[in-house]
Amino acid sequence: MNKSDVIDKLFLGFLILISALILILSSFYNYLLFHTISEMFSIVVAFGIFTLIWSSRKKVDNLYILIVGISYLFIGALDLLHTITYKGMNIITDYDFYANQLWIATRYVESISISFVFLSKFKVKIRAELIFLVYFVVTTLILLSIFYWKIFPICFVEGLGQTSFKIYSEYIVIGILLASGVMFILFRDNFNKKILILFLLSIAFTIVSELFFTLYISNYDLINKLGHIFKIISFYFIYRSVIITGVNEPANVIYISLQKERKKLNNALEALKQSNMELIQFSSVVAHDLKNPLIAINSGINLIEKNWDKNKTIDKNILTETKERSNRMLLMIDDLLSYSKIDKKSKNFGDFNCDDIINEAIDNLKVKIESNKAQIIYKNLPKLRCDKIQLVSLFQNLIENAIKYRKKDIPPIIEISAEERKNNVIFSVKDNGIGIEEEYKNKIFQIFHRINYDENKYPGTGIGLAFCKKIVERHQGKIWVESEYSKGSTFYFTIKNL
Ligand code: ADP
Repeated sequence: MNKSDVIDKLFLGFLILISALILILSSFYNYLLFHTISEMFSIVVAFGIFTLIWSSRKKVDNLYILIVGISYLFIGALDLLHTITYKGMNIITDYDFYANQLWIATRYVESISISFVFLSKFKVKIRAELIFLVYFVVTTLILLSIFYWKIFPICFVEGLGQTSFKIYSEYIVIGILLASGVMFILFRDNFNKKILILFLLSIAFTIVSELFFTLYISNYDLINKLGHIFKIISFYFIYRSVIITGVNEPANVIYISLQKERKKLNNALEALKQSNMELIQFSSVVAHDLKNPLIAINSGINLIEKNWDKNKTIDKNILTETKERSNRMLLMIDDLLSYSKIDKKSKNFGDFNCDDIINEAIDNLKVKIESNKAQIIYKNLPKLRCDKIQLVSLFQNLIENAIKYRKKDIPPIIEISAEERKNNVIFSVKDNGIGIEEEYKNKIFQIFHRINYDENKYPGTGIGLAFCKKIVERHQGKIWVESEYSKGSTFYFTIKNL
């Protein structure tokens, strides 16, 4: 805690002590004094909030903070009028009902302004002066309806107590505040955690205060006093959140969206770092794997060169092998090209039926399925928002592998199923093939990574699963395999159902 924090805390403690003393004394000896002091506290806080936000309105870029900040000028002004029209103050004496009417009108303005929480995700696009004008017009209309036209419903009648309009209005205000509390939680990302808690506390105490105000019978009774005390507490939390945090840590209040932007930027930076690392890893793997056939081609050519000099006859096998290597390299480069194009294609999102996607994949593999007598089982698959071309290619790769890595003596059976969970769909592609040993389960998703089987029996470049992984990641999902060696494998992947 630094020196200014200590002074701040001491000042606050002193303020609370003095206020508490005055409140206790005045509530026992003079209700009017108690009422005036308690209202003055919230009025000063309201004007303070307005001054803070108004003076930095050019920097505030969160629409909600701007609206709430401006609204407090009018809330403070209406509360001030409520205080000076209070019975016994003898300032405005022509009519008995002003104070309670002003009270409920202010609570409506306050709770409705607080309830605009959903605007916290928007940046300020309208001028602060325009918001001010709207509040000015609304407040003027309220004042005219109370003081001039006298059409505002009566809220309290001496001897009879509160009217049903007043009581129902308090309930409506409580309802609006409860809804605002829920919205605060839903839109919590737009607020600094500390401020969010203070705002929620303020709303909770306002609700308690309003509950007391639905119950009082006399303007001077204990329930009414308690209502005012809870109102002070609720304004204290607003004071803590906006004034103290706003002055001491302005970034927390005023630059919340700036902070959010910074967070987004940091996340983007992290993602960039991650993808850069993946790129470095990727290029070293690719360079290494492309080098192998090239080295073989090179040594083949060297041999040919050597033999050429000796007797001008060349072993046909060397030629065939070199040709095979160069073909393989061409294949790998082709695969690499289609792999790098996945990103570009992933914008064609649409709603598709999974059955259609799998049917298309099966159709593309018709010859292989028939010649291997493979059986593919799937039913009741969901609709999906995805890139259809990519999903066809994903299923095609997995089915093709399930057929390729089959057991010699039994025909392949491939079962495809899906389970919907929250926003994700989990797919599984299960086969009865040769299975995968534990140590390879993660490696096989790396580009060009193959398990060293007989190349003639299981031809391939080792890019298929890397392809699948990239497609799944483009759909904000994950891919993994569970397998028991020599018993079969199940490939799982999730797709975010947007
Ligand atoms: P490729 O099939 O060209 O080798 P993939 O990336 O599709 O490339 O697969 C990588 C490795 O994962 C394969 O070499 C194989 O060893 C293993 N594999 C993939 N699918 C299966 C499967 N269904 N059953 C057993 N092994 C598999």
